[in-house]
Amino acid sequence: MLSLLHRYMKDEEVENLEQKKALHTDSFEGVEFIRVTKDHKQYPRGTVFMDDRIIMGYPRIMRVLHLGNGIRRYMKGKFYVEEKVDGYNVRITLINGRPLAFTRGGYVCPLTTSKVPDLLDMSFFEKYPDYVISGEVAGPGSPYNTEPIPYVSEDVSFFIFDLFDASGEKLSTEEKYSMLEPFQFTQVSKWGPFTDSDVAEVKDIVLELDRQGREGIVLKPVTETKKIKPIKYVTLSSCLSDLRSTTELVMELPAGFFMQRIIRAIFFCHEFGIHLDENYLLDAAKALYLSPAKSVKVVSEGGHLKESFKVKSQSKKVISEFMDHLNRSHIDTKLLSIEKINDEFEGRFQRIYRDGTKKIRRSLKGHGFFD
Ligand code: ATP
Repeated sequence: MLSLLHRYMKDEEVENLEQKKALHTDSFEGVEFIRVTKDHKQYPRGTVFMDDRIIMGYPRIMRVLHLGNGIRRYMKGKFYVEEKVDGYNVRITLINGRPLAFTRGGYVCPLTTSKVPDLLDMSFFEKYPDYVISGEVAGPGSPYNTEPIPYVSEDVSFFIFDLFDASGEKLSTEEKYSMLEPFQFTQVSKWGPFTDSDVAEVKDIVLELDRQGREGIVLKPVTETKKIKPIKYVTLSSCLSDLRSTTELVMELPAGFFMQRIIRAIFFCHEFGIHLDENYLLDAAKALYLSPAKSVKVVSEGGHLKESFKVKSQSKKVISEFMDHLNRSHIDTKLLSIEKINDEFEGRFQRIYRDGTKKIRRSLKGHGFFD
């Protein structure tokens, strides 16, 4: 199967990727493909190669901690501001006439795939059959995120933020907006165009998003080049809600994950002249101490670190296929129930974090380590 890569790259590159163990063959309902599992030159992690198609991985976006100076440093010329929606990244495209939803890592997610016709205006693909639509799936029915988001109350919605053409090229920001306009899509909110003299206006957008408990923004240059690329910036409230929803996973996630959120909050306050009030500080301290303390207690009583999810589908089979997909992706889960509620099935499952559990258990047993 790897021989199909020779259409796209030289023999040495294929060998190099193989040596890095960055190529995985995979299939979904008879469609065979190769997933790239590490960034390699112009192919980001999650790039998918098929016989006659390449689906580029979604590129990484640089983060700035100082918004004003980040804009002045990186946004040369006009740019748009888009809302950064907090969910999971999905690329949707037609394969053999059927829409498939690829996750950031290049897996086909059976649950998201089954929902595509409800999430998207499918007539787009009649006009642009080889295009790839990128966006964020978000909502309380997300099987990958536990953080509540204020703007989706039922199951999940799909927020489009980028388009890629048949050759894998990302469309320019304005081309994308005008191409999406005739269709009934939910796009991420957008503002602009701006230039670097509009920093105050961009900061107002961020403050409003912060008040509404939304995650942040992605700044997208009108004309992207090798040097002028999008940047991302998050709100103060998102730093706290990230902490609240992740500190239970103490010792599973690297300590830097939590520190990163604290650093982002500190820079936000510095730039916006915000003095953190007692409520914020108390909530942050509670998130950093009480949730992990609860986790240590759970493990001391023989339990595991875990998170609970509830997903919905029209089909019971899709929920089972989705559970298989998680297990194939090395995500440890336990299905609790699948129940029919009205005309839908609701699957409840837990994601189990064995590494973090093991680290806590060993520490409780007195094992030592050098730090
Ligand atoms: P990265 O891969 O960029 O280093 P990450 O996977 O850790 O980062 P985040 O830090 O949350 O993710 O930020 C990037 C992600 O934000 C994108 O991969 C995309 O899924 C999501 N996103 C949400 N809204 C937008 C938007 N308007 N434009 C681009 N990406 C967006």
